[in-house]
Amino acid sequence: MTPTLTADRPDRTADRRRRAVRDRRRPARRSRTALPSTGPDAPDGPDGPLAVDPDAERSVRARREPMAVFALRSDDQYLVDTDGGSYVVDVGSDTCTCPDYGIRHRRCKHLRRVDMEIGIGRVPAPGERVAACAVCGTGVFVPARESGAFLCGDHRPAVGSFVRDREADKLLVVTGVTTTRADEYRTRDGTRISDYETNADYGDHEPVVEAVYVGNAVRSPGPLDVSGRRRYGFPASRLRRLAPNERPHTPVIGV
Ligand SMILES: [Zn+2]
Ligand SMILES: [Zn+2]
Repeated sequence: MTPTLTADRPDRTADRRRRAVRDRRRPARRSRTALPSTGPDAPDGPDGPLAVDPDAERSVRARREPMAVFALRSDDQYLVDTDGGSYVVDVGSDTCTCPDYGIRHRRCKHLRRVDMEIGIGRVPAPGERVAACAVCGTGVFVPARESGAFLCGDHRPAVGSFVRDREADKLLVVTGVTTTRADEYRTRDGTRISDYETNADYGDHEPVVEAVYVGNAVRSPGPLDVSGRRRYGFPASRLRRLAPNERPHTPVIGV
């Protein structure tokens, strides 16, 4: 007997429809989780005994209990969503709206949890906001009041590093990473970076990276001094970062 392909398959359409409804009902938020155990304050695993000292116990609970932390628009404030309720932590005044803080005025588990999440980069620190990398869309923390275009760690070249121009296949050294978009950054003659034909394949919204061509200079002995060289602007993704085995070993000075 040959089983038919659809024999045990649930009704996918109905399944999808149910899922769509569920997704719409679910708030667009990260769900409550514990933090991974890293410090000595949680040596016993999730079910082990809690520390006796009340403050140490608050720290253990801050890490182990399922919570979700969200940065609020107002500076220094975070919403902490827990199984027992939602509270607002203000890291500027070191206060929390929970009963533990209200009654005992101790640094409660919510305040501690916010500190931990800032420390591991899960939420922006005070004075920061989340922006999307102009190349891949990944969230990056940037100064709250700074506008413009930004890059994530994977797409932001280090100043002083070698990169390769994808159009001309030439080696350059990065001299600056701006936050100015390619369609706003103008060269000395007033042309926008995005208006150059060779930049047509790269995003107008990308930040401009400034770099100098190094030509054959990289083969001469001694450090490479780029101080006198003309700087050019490129949409970020036009410059390819180099793998470790592709990088010249020449030290760069004058950036
Ligand atoms: Zn609290
Ligand atoms: Zn990126």
